[in-house]
Amino acid sequence: MTGQAAGSAARHKGWPKPALLYNTMRKRFGFLDWWPGETKDEVLIGAILTQQTSWKNVEKAIANLKNAGAISLRGIARMRKDRIEALIRPSGFYRQKAKRLKETCAYIYRNYGSLDKFFSRDKEALREELLGLNGIGNETADSIILYAAEKPVFVIDEYTRRVMGRVSGIYAGNKSYEEIQDFFEKGLERDVALYKEAHAQFVELGKNYCRAKPLCAGCPLEKICLYGSKIRIGTRPPRTRKHNA
Ligand code: SF4
Repeated sequence: MTGQAAGSAARHKGWPKPALLYNTMRKRFGFLDWWPGETKDEVLIGAILTQQTSWKNVEKAIANLKNAGAISLRGIARMRKDRIEALIRPSGFYRQKAKRLKETCAYIYRNYGSLDKFFSRDKEALREELLGLNGIGNETADSIILYAAEKPVFVIDEYTRRVMGRVSGIYAGNKSYEEIQDFFEKGLERDVALYKEAHAQFVELGKNYCRAKPLCAGCPLEKICLYGSKIRIGTRPPRTRKHNA
């Protein structure tokens, strides 16, 4: 084991292996093939619209943009902000999101002309540039890189963070985004299709079982989850341990 891998293993002591988590969920939920989007432009637009809201609301906003013929980098870059606001209103936080959409699309369109050109650079450069744009954080940047640019980066969202906190008994909110991402990227083969599917599995688990109030009975991870197994044997679930390592 290399020094780096050993360090990573020590930091994640007590966490079930990523492959075990993935295979267990996949066995239950099957192949999900998540994140609809007919074009890269649509996927990028969807990644911004889905911030702080459910995909159901995003679908309505995307349908409005499609009907207006504006579901493209160029369409958004050229559209007036108040018009974008009206079209994406169902997605919530529509003023803030219209500003982000317009600025992101205008920036890429002005500097690269197309998403193919923008995405042609390496993953690190792409990530850095996306993170420099207004309102694009780690999760949105990585969703764009994985689902639109099709480059292997593991997306960490609130569902993944919550599940990891409960299965390990370690307060995952105290872990940095990069630390949890590193855990999955070291434990799963770097593969775009696999990373897409693994993210989809966590979303499915978070929506149906590992909710704010967890439904552990019947959850596919019940037997390997510290929180779930304590409930199963009738003891109090562990208080999530704050972990500062
Ligand atoms: S067993 Fe309960 S706490 Fe553990 S992942 Fe499933 S729903 Fe969440």
